[in-house]
Amino acid sequence: MDKNHKKLLEFSGAKGAKKFDIINPTSGAVIQSLPSDSAAIVQAKIAKISAGFPKWAATKPKSRAKILQKWCDLILQNKLQIAEIMHQESAKLMTECLVEVDYAASFVAEYAKQATVERDEKIKQGKIFYQPIGAVAAITPWNFPAAMITRKVSPALAAGCTVICKPSDSTPLTAIALLNLAREAGLDESVLQIAIGDAKTIGKEFCESKDIKKLSFTGSTAVGKILLEQCAGTVKKTTMELGGNAPFIVLADADLDAAVDAAVKSRFRFSGQTCICANRFLVAEKIYDKFVEKIAAKVAALQIAPLIDLGAAQKVEKLVQGAVKQGARLVEGGKKAKENFFPATVLADVTQKMDIFSEEIFGPVVTVIKFKKPEQAVEMANDTRYGLAAYVFCGKKNKGEEIAKQLNFGMVGVNETAIASAQTPFGGMNESGIGREGSHFGIEEYFEVKFVAI
Ligand code: ADP
Repeated sequence: MDKNHKKLLEFSGAKGAKKFDIINPTSGAVIQSLPSDSAAIVQAKIAKISAGFPKWAATKPKSRAKILQKWCDLILQNKLQIAEIMHQESAKLMTECLVEVDYAASFVAEYAKQATVERDEKIKQGKIFYQPIGAVAAITPWNFPAAMITRKVSPALAAGCTVICKPSDSTPLTAIALLNLAREAGLDESVLQIAIGDAKTIGKEFCESKDIKKLSFTGSTAVGKILLEQCAGTVKKTTMELGGNAPFIVLADADLDAAVDAAVKSRFRFSGQTCICANRFLVAEKIYDKFVEKIAAKVAALQIAPLIDLGAAQKVEKLVQGAVKQGARLVEGGKKAKENFFPATVLADVTQKMDIFSEEIFGPVVTVIKFKKPEQAVEMANDTRYGLAAYVFCGKKNKGEEIAKQLNFGMVGVNETAIASAQTPFGGMNESGIGREGSHFGIEEYFEVKFVAI
């Protein structure tokens, strides 16, 4: 670790705090040990941002925008170091880490712009004011160690809210690097805090605190449900970005090579560990065999990162074995996981009845399902409790749009897999979540709307 890395990773916990190790998933080595925040420390941090709220809310939007832009500039100036830290603690491929730092910075830039947008309205009956909601909390996952933080923290700060964020205990180092750059940009302890350590302890403090006015969470549906229950006591507002089970429909008239390229790109990003990764490939009967053959050839040549930990690899292995037992045809990969490495895998002849059809795989596995008519593909695509992302590949754009309207998902890509950006709304239907992030919708989640009759 050079001097620059060390400076980015400076973090002081309470004296005598229990420590926990951050592991490199590729080598298994301990990268660093960090002090775990106790409930009392979390409460003290919440008290700080709660006390800091009135001043930050009263800070001119232009000044808030300037600080955010400086944070963005610093993130980009330290792009390589942040990417290296992320690569070490998450095992994400270095090329993908570099892309993520840009993606993370794009949220800060977008909300530096959004901070100064005039939103208050004058109507016949009086005025409508958009006021920051208060001190807010964010809980983020390990699969986007930088971007999920900036996607929540930047709109909150832009709106005038103060923030406490709990990154995943697997990837807190990227969060610490971002925090240190935020301090350099001018976001002090009364405006932004990071809580690190035991997820349950910190989560409970966030949810049950009367001083925290909103919780924004990205993670699994199972944990989202626990947090929603914990937030009920204070009727806390929430944004929930939860799991997905994205269908990827390929109609008979689609450009097959383009569809296969897109399928591989979407499925294997971070070894399949993103919530918008295509999870179920619904392919028209006419091109089914060709699709399986072409995707298997591509997959065989892929280089992918290991999964986040052994438990993740075991879960994927169990799903693949279960599918084979239920009648799926193993075309590529699928062999037993070695530690946390799981090979890129293709399963054909998957059906709606198999467990793997209903599960978010969160690993490098393509499942191919045959359909006869587009209506059947739509019915199968919607046969899930999730509703985050979906994809349609077809020859005619109009047909793609028509199908997109029938899909119960928050985002649909038509001949496109790049569906997430700072300028577009991101979020899911049904058990994939509540609310939207990105674009003006993302900042609106941090306002209270007040009507004043005059
Ligand atoms: P993932 O599959 O991405 O790990 P999780 O839902 O387990 O999804 O984790 C997402 C985030 O939620 C992480 O920061 C994790 O530490 C946190 N988390 C996990 N369990 C809890 C909990 N019971 N209370 C609060 N946060 C939790």
